[in-house]
Amino acid sequence: MIFFFGTRASKIKERKLRRTTCLYCQSQDSFTVSTYGNYFHFFWIPMFPLWKKHIAECSHCKKSYAFAEFTPEMLKSLEVENNTNPAKRPLWQSSGCLILVLFFIIVFSLSIFGVYSRSGDTNNTADIDPRKEWLDADLKKVAKLTKNHKDSISTSLKSCVDYEIVSGVDTENIEYYSKQNANKLLILLRIKDIKKIEPKFRKDILEILEDCIYQIDSQKQFDSLYIGIKGKWNTVLVRTPTQEDIRGRFADKYKLLPFYGNDSPNRPLTKQPDTLLIE
Ligand SMILES: [Zn+2]
Repeated sequence: MIFFFGTRASKIKERKLRRTTCLYCQSQDSFTVSTYGNYFHFFWIPMFPLWKKHIAECSHCKKSYAFAEFTPEMLKSLEVENNTNPAKRPLWQSSGCLILVLFFIIVFSLSIFGVYSRSGDTNNTADIDPRKEWLDADLKKVAKLTKNHKDSISTSLKSCVDYEIVSGVDTENIEYYSKQNANKLLILLRIKDIKKIEPKFRKDILEILEDCIYQIDSQKQFDSLYIGIKGKWNTVLVRTPTQEDIRGRFADKYKLLPFYGNDSPNRPLTKQPDTLLIE
């Protein structure tokens, strides 16, 4: 079992104990005391230092002494050493908090930067693009298929996907939604346990879906396919006739917007096109 937090120790100093005698072999000044610094770690990042531990070893008879076994003269000698040559804790044991704070600052600024650059590369009217609302509304409609579901494409798709998918994914928990806009078809899926599939293999799901639609659409009704696959939290795969985001981690769901129509500054979309549920 792996613990993500707890205490660890590391040796911080070795010193000789002068004016001491080993109780076992009677050697003089033969002790080396190793001082260990315990520290608290979180995900193996040292956060802050805790207590110190001293272990003495006789270089002659190799007998080691825990701190509780130190003789009064060993204690005294250690005290002298602590005053003249102290075992200071290394900086890294206490810098963990700082490293973590720094890490969060970097992640935070990167995500802010990401949000800005992402909204920048769609277009300037991105915030008022109504297609985003339509897409977000459709993404909310992705659901488990119940019996007598109206969405016949999703129903056929599910039986095809259930048959084709050969991974640890629980196909019963895959959620579906499909929508038609003229000869365009939007397929939205949610696979909560997509984590069970390695990112590099996730794009295979797109291929399965395309194959399945090809089989289902025997009339060749659709000529453009827009596929979006959500994981537990975010969209992980997107493929449209012109764009794709198939790294299998964080995909830009707004690449699906052309399904609803092309926005242009001269002729902004104000009304959702008459998209249909396939019945
Ligand atoms: Zn000894």
